[in-house]
Amino acid sequence: MHIDRPLRGALMKAFGLVGLNPWLTCRECVESVTDFLEGGLSPPDRARVLAHLKGCPDCPRYFRQIELTIRLAGSITAGSVPPGARAVLLDAFRDWHRAPEEET
Ligand SMILES: [Zn+2]
Repeated sequence: MHIDRPLRGALMKAFGLVGLNPWLTCRECVESVTDFLEGGLSPPDRARVLAHLKGCPDCPRYFRQIELTIRLAGSITAGSVPPGARAVLLDAFRDWHRAPEEET
């Protein structure tokens, strides 16, 4: 999963310009996934997650994966999040939010 830098910059800029605040980071979004899918989020938090999913190229895929897991397992706990998927996603998001001076 790779998002090239110009697209990434354009997305961040676009969302900044339309004033979608507070902007939920991918990391926050991923961390809210179980609460979101189980209906544990407050309406404002739920709206923020939905807004993020609309504009994010990656999180919807992750949510779909978790949703499938829930459907198969009947319920979900932190331990039932596919460890591989979570690690890969969190890794990608770390890269996403890396400060420019840290990039090579
Ligand atoms: Zn995202």
